[in-house]
Amino acid sequence: MQALHRAKLDQPRATIKLMPDYLAEAHALHAENIVVDGHADTPQRFADEAWQWTDPELRGGQLSAQTAKAGHLHAEFFALWAEPTQWQGHHQDRTLQLLAAVEDQLTRHPEALTLCTTSADVRAAKAQNKFAALLGVEGGHSIGTDLDLLRHLHTRGVRYMTLTWSNTNDWCDSSNDTAQHNGLTTFGCRVIAEMNNLGMLVDLSHVSDAAFWQAIRTSRAPVIASHSSARALTDAPRNLTDDQLRAIAESGGVVMVNFFTAFLSEPFRHAWNHQRGEREAAIDAARTAAHAANQPFHFSHELAIDRTFARQLPRPPLATLLAHIDHVLRICGPAHTGLGSDFDGIPLAPAGIDTAADLPRITAGLIARGWHPSGLRGLLGENILRTLDQAKV
Ligand SMILES: [Zn+2]
Repeated sequence: MQALHRAKLDQPRATIKLMPDYLAEAHALHAENIVVDGHADTPQRFADEAWQWTDPELRGGQLSAQTAKAGHLHAEFFALWAEPTQWQGHHQDRTLQLLAAVEDQLTRHPEALTLCTTSADVRAAKAQNKFAALLGVEGGHSIGTDLDLLRHLHTRGVRYMTLTWSNTNDWCDSSNDTAQHNGLTTFGCRVIAEMNNLGMLVDLSHVSDAAFWQAIRTSRAPVIASHSSARALTDAPRNLTDDQLRAIAESGGVVMVNFFTAFLSEPFRHAWNHQRGEREAAIDAARTAAHAANQPFHFSHELAIDRTFARQLPRPPLATLLAHIDHVLRICGPAHTGLGSDFDGIPLAPAGIDTAADLPRITAGLIARGWHPSGLRGLLGENILRTLDQAKV
């Protein structure tokens, strides 16, 4: 701020542009275009906390009808994520429970929320001033080895499936777990073929490097990463290498950048990993205490503890996120980059990004970095809408 302040005094007003100008420009750009986010864990809040989409109280969340309106966010992929350990043996039931919880919100708030499965649906929703609910499944363990369930999920509106979460499943290896299949099994390739037939996007966030390249070779349709950042900048195994970024762009798909600070800042990632033992012990203790008291222990409780730990660390600036988006824009190109916040699933986003209402700050930051506003329409939403319509081959 000091430097900016000095610049203001030293230079004629016409030659400098202050952040507030960019922010107004960003708000206008969002309002004029369609803004789509690639990944949010909000369905658990519907299912576990009896929280309503239209509730003005966020109660620890990062996304709501109100914050979406304030940030001019028009559409979100709601992720159906069955926590694999807690729901061991019940992954399919839990996935359907989360889906039912989203459908319940659609029924309760038809004036505010509408299910969308195509780009035309999303445009119509915006025209009717309704928030566009898109659906993704996070983790192939949700379907187990049941292709009928995959087809069923498609009929109920699911339009992407992340092949794994942080757990290796029956047919695909995860970047955060022990490899068991040297990537993808033969059945895993069949899953991808069926997704291509149905028109469900293959989401490569979370998968192991070996699985990534096998999926790239197998999918006939463009592939996406719904919430992944750049490994060249932050060495998390969950982030994508430049070659992987290029491969997704070459498939015609889109890389949607994750906002979690441990994927964006190397110092934060180290500090976060250093805290792991202590953090997991605190979560285990809270879970044990809840069970002993016959109280539920949900992901939201775990996330609240994660947030307490995350807040003990220096919060990375917004520039860390902008650097990742900037990198992906340069490697993939503006036609293959997007936003994948991971709201309601991450302990912390960079400074200035607390809820969906803050999204225009990111756009303002990119304009300040020299990206022309008209070149950001794809990133904001048009890229994923185009890819969505190309899912079926
Ligand atoms: Zn995820």
